[in-house]
Amino acid sequence: MSLSPAIPPPARSPYVGRLAPSPTGRLHLGHARTFALAAARAREAGGRLLMRIDDLDTARCRPEFTAAALEDLAWLGLRWEEPVIVQSARLDRYRAALARLHAAGLIFPCHRSRKDLAEALSAPHERAPGGGPPADDEPLYPLAWRPPADAPLPPLDAAGLATNWRFRVPVGRELVFEDGHHGPQRAVCGSDFGDFLVWRKDGYPSYQLACAVDDAELGITEVVRGADLIRSTFRQLLLLDALGAPLPAYHHAPLLTDERGVRLAKRHDALSLATLRAAGRSPATLLDDCGI
Ligand code: GLU
Repeated sequence: MSLSPAIPPPARSPYVGRLAPSPTGRLHLGHARTFALAAARAREAGGRLLMRIDDLDTARCRPEFTAAALEDLAWLGLRWEEPVIVQSARLDRYRAALARLHAAGLIFPCHRSRKDLAEALSAPHERAPGGGPPADDEPLYPLAWRPPADAPLPPLDAAGLATNWRFRVPVGRELVFEDGHHGPQRAVCGSDFGDFLVWRKDGYPSYQLACAVDDAELGITEVVRGADLIRSTFRQLLLLDALGAPLPAYHHAPLLTDERGVRLAKRHDALSLATLRAAGRSPATLLDDCGI
């Protein structure tokens, strides 16, 4: 097993960070804390801070949530560079990256449905050694479903772009990175996660591909985001490596939970920034309460 990609270095200088809200609902206190931490780290490093709107989930994203997120974060006192980067306006960049992965033979078309995958994974012999990814992660794609590595790939024409594509992970390779908050992180390709989606048949990149392309092209030197995305980092490291991009440093902020220990989600309306603001809370006391 190799230790490649290498452990990403500490944030390069000059520092470039980003805030990347998904406009699928109103932001809550947990977002405020993560985004405020990202802004503080950029400020302390004397660096730049970009704003990226992750609006590729067309079923759940709504323009009014983008406007609301920008307003809430500005109210909180965060400042970022203009122009705001909007993922849905960058589809040509993601298609170009997909074409590079295709030319390098690193992806394959997948015609299986989520239902096929769920059925296959309920068969005991398909379970990964070591248990595989946790239930809230993308399920482990059966190796038996991969086309042979030398099978010719269909072209990325209109029909090709209306197909799901997966990244062929280097089975058995160990990936490691040093998280700025959680310390050393490790995963083995093919056991902890499998061939993952990079392109969806609705014509959009997966979050993993869009995020890796943007972090590379925008020159992000440190990614600060919630700890729920630690497992995504391994996939993004593989994509960055495949695209020949420098690897950013990573700092995953612990997630806020409510008084019952349940992770804050956008449905916790009582803790939405809009509600807290309407109740007269000030940005300073909010950030103080969550330890920023
Ligand atoms: N848009 C993602 C979220 O709100 C964050 C993605 C990222 O920081 O890479 O959870």
